Amino acid sequence: MSSNRHSVVIVGFGGMGSYHAGLIKETSTLIVVGTYDVLEARRTNSNDAGYKAYQSYEEVLADSSVEIILIATPNDVHKEIAIRALQAGKHVICEKPVALSKVEFQEILAAADQAGRVFMVHQNRRWDEDFLTIKKMYDEETIGSLFQIESRVHGANGIPGDWRHVKAQGGGMLLDWGVHLLDQLLFMIDSKITSVSSSLSFILGNDVDDGFEAILQFENGIKAIVEVGTTNFITLPRWYVKGIEGTGIIEDWSLTGRLVTRNNAGEKIEPKPIRAGVGLTKTMAPPSEGATITEELPQPSELSSSFYDNFAAVIEGTAEPIVKNAEVMRVQNLIEVIFEAAESNQVVKNFDIYDK
Ligand code: NAD
Repeated sequence: MSSNRHSVVIVGFGGMGSYHAGLIKETSTLIVVGTYDVLEARRTNSNDAGYKAYQSYEEVLADSSVEIILIATPNDVHKEIAIRALQAGKHVICEKPVALSKVEFQEILAAADQAGRVFMVHQNRRWDEDFLTIKKMYDEETIGSLFQIESRVHGANGIPGDWRHVKAQGGGMLLDWGVHLLDQLLFMIDSKITSVSSSLSFILGNDVDDGFEAILQFENGIKAIVEVGTTNFITLPRWYVKGIEGTGIIEDWSLTGRLVTRNNAGEKIEPKPIRAGVGLTKTMAPPSEGATITEELPQPSELSSSFYDNFAAVIEGTAEPIVKNAEVMRVQNLIEVIFEAAESNQVVKNFDIYDK
């Protein structure tokens, strides 16, 4: 430990690696003592930012003062970097998606087991306030029990960067953003998934998906629609959820949104028919005045600690991981089912995402 903080070396000092460095600076439990990147330019950035730039990964692993390796490289090299770190006796924080396949993740877990070291995946979007607001609504049935959850992220910039375009490097949006949205759903909903259908989009002509849509049916009756798009010049809301008593919408990450619920105390007045297009409808007319109540979104749920503080407590043996490896494995398994459903163009029903 250095100044009572656990020492971290960040491997891969690109976008996310340098973002971690800034966030870790704010903690009182971890400290970044250096970085390693295969690119000279990134090593220069590291020196400029005041972090020792190790010249090789061997040099990092041989440094006994380093307790934790934080992996923020492209996805295809997570496994090798993780296993070498664990074998050298380091604890590991790994960026998402943990690996390119279930088999790769099993190999990492075996190495962690053998070394008796902590391995935890940075599923940071469990801490997103928009998600924690939906989780609150789910847990407390704010609009009655939820039966449909639509979780979307839409951009119009295509697939960013370089390696995210390359299949062999774990590119594509299902692995990139899909892993976050699926992790959130499985963290929130404790029920088996009984069927999956999906489609991937290749609008931009890459080898990897530039977006996808998956429909998941849960045993407890919830249908979830998960969608990622990178060619959406007009975006749909981040969340749209339906409960027995109302509907909720969260437009964006700034938590613009509202709940509209049935007013059970109000006098029951039939809606008046309206002209809609060239036709007439009562079914699709807005509810009569007083029939519904519009409310603000509830306060988000809270997790017991930040990702980094939780990691420090786990290696000290004083807390359980908030991101458990068994949960990460479920998401990895589900991603493989979503790929299978898209490739076969079939609804997939017989699978076990709890398989280790
Ligand atoms: P990036 O391309 O900006 O940075 C990756 C860095 O890794 C580059 O500097 C590259 O030179 C370096 N690198 C490549 N191979 C290496 C190796 N073998 N050893 C050491 N360094 C190596 O990519 P990024 O956007 O920072 O993404 C990195 C990881 O972070 C990915 O796994 C990505 O999915 C994840 N990520 C997570 C979040 C999140 O919110 N959790 C957000 C963005 C990215």
